[in-house]
Amino acid sequence: MIGRLGQSGYACPAFMPEAALPASKIGDDSRDAVAMVARCLDLALAEAATPPGARAAEVERARRGLQMACRSAQKLKSRRQGSPVIADLEGGSLPVDLQTLTSEMRACTLCTDLPLGPNPIFQISAAARMLIVGQAPGRITHAKGRPFDDPSGDRLRAWLALDRETFYTDPRIGIFPMGLCFPGGGPGGDKPPPEICARTWRQPVLDRLPKVELTLVLGAYAIAWHLPHLKGKSVVQAVQSAAEGQGKVFVLPHPSPRNNRWLRQNAWFEETVVPRIQATVRRLLGAPAGHAGHGAEEGPHG
Ligand code: SF4
Repeated sequence: MIGRLGQSGYACPAFMPEAALPASKIGDDSRDAVAMVARCLDLALAEAATPPGARAAEVERARRGLQMACRSAQKLKSRRQGSPVIADLEGGSLPVDLQTLTSEMRACTLCTDLPLGPNPIFQISAAARMLIVGQAPGRITHAKGRPFDDPSGDRLRAWLALDRETFYTDPRIGIFPMGLCFPGGGPGGDKPPPEICARTWRQPVLDRLPKVELTLVLGAYAIAWHLPHLKGKSVVQAVQSAAEGQGKVFVLPHPSPRNNRWLRQNAWFEETVVPRIQATVRRLLGAPAGHAGHGAEEGPHG
């Protein structure tokens, strides 16, 4: 149901955000959540005769509100039942799989203050064995629609000993930044990734990537999420603290050419940490994607 509701063809013209309970006020009871979604649907049905296009702003707000309501319902139901399902309209249930979440993310318009508008950029598959976690797309990535398609990406691929084609087409390689859309520029660089993005999408997606055995973390926001004990540490400290890949996570300095000085001053990173990362990547991706034993359930979503 989540997929059908969240995809762009569906919007409730009558639903106003205040008609739904905020997530913080929902008790830990899946009945509340399901009732909330049912209320959205009731309102949609009651207003089915509203002339199309008459209230575009309300429709957009409704769509966002409904997305959030559905996600709250999904979370509560999952917690309750230990499985990612929510009640279906007909009384059955449908799994909320990665593909559904992917469709939801691609249609996401939760942030209303993005200077170039929503344009979620990521590459994930249920077959992912390694995950690259950066901060958020920059302006160029926003325009290209492809992550790491720049000199930073070239250096990152060199660190991983991966060619471009493998990097972008092998479903075992996932790219899932902390913010999925370009957040806009600020005085000292790009703005931080919108908090709501990680809050909404991150854990549900990570929960559906059971084969990930290597996470490569770049930047303070990714460190704070994946290695909270390193939050606030300097880049050197964070990279050193994860230099053995403990917990299947490595911290990388940003591969940007602007970081050349840091890399020169910390040559130990490329001399000792990069070879460890490459060995892990080789172990995970050694066989071609179609012969790795786990298959590629879904194509890459990049
Ligand atoms: S940044 Fe994330 S939450 Fe905001 S619109 Fe893009 S996908 Fe949605």
